[in-house]
Amino acid sequence: MQPINLTSASAAGKDFVEKVRKASGVDVKACYQCGKCSAGCPVAFAMDYTPRQVMRMLQLGLTEEVLKSHSIWLCAQCETCSARCPRKLEPAKVMEALRIEAKKAGFETEDEIATFNEKFLRSVASNGRVFEAGLVIGFNLATVRPFKDAGVAPSMLANGKLKLLPHKIKGRDAVRRMFEKAEKMEGEHK
Ligand code: SF4
Ligand code: SF4
Repeated sequence: MQPINLTSASAAGKDFVEKVRKASGVDVKACYQCGKCSAGCPVAFAMDYTPRQVMRMLQLGLTEEVLKSHSIWLCAQCETCSARCPRKLEPAKVMEALRIEAKKAGFETEDEIATFNEKFLRSVASNGRVFEAGLVIGFNLATVRPFKDAGVAPSMLANGKLKLLPHKIKGRDAVRRMFEKAEKMEGEHK
C-alpha cells in the first residue's frame, strides 16, 4: 500500500514508526485519519486518545505521549477498528505493539487499568451492557479525579453519545449467568 506522507516526525519518531511496523506489520504512515476506527471502538469514550489520535500521534513522533497513554491499556483487542479501516490497517495490532513497548520503557499504568476493567465488567454484569456515564463516574471517583473529562459531557449528552440512565438489556440474566460461570471457573483454577 502506498503510504500517505502526513508526517513531520522527528528522526526518533520515524524510527519508532518503523519499529511499530516491524512488530505489528502496520505502517501507520498509511493512515489518512478518516476516524472510522474511533467511531467503532467500544472503549474510545474512556480513552485519553482515540485510536485515530494514536495513529496521528505516532505519525507526528509523539512517541512518549502515546506510550504513557491509558488508551493502549484500555484497548480490549476486539479488532473492530481493524475490521473498519478502509486502508486495511490494523490499529488493534498497533495497540498491542505499543503495550509491549510501553512495558519495555516502564510506562505501565496497570493499577488504573485493573480498576477500569473491574468497573467495566461490573457495569456489564449489572446491565447486560456497559453504562458509560456510570462507568466514567465510578472510575474517576476510584482514581481520585472526580472531574476528569467532565468538560466533554455536555456535548456528548447533546449529541446522544451519553445517556444519563443505564439501558438494561433483555438478556441480562444470561449475561449474569456467564459471569457466575466465569467466576466459578476462575475459582477452580486458583
Ligand atoms: S481493538 Fe482496541 S482500539 Fe480497536 S476498536 Fe477494539 S478496543 Fe478499540
Ligand atoms: S480507520 Fe484506518 S485510516 Fe481511518 S483513521 Fe483509523 S487507522 Fe486511520
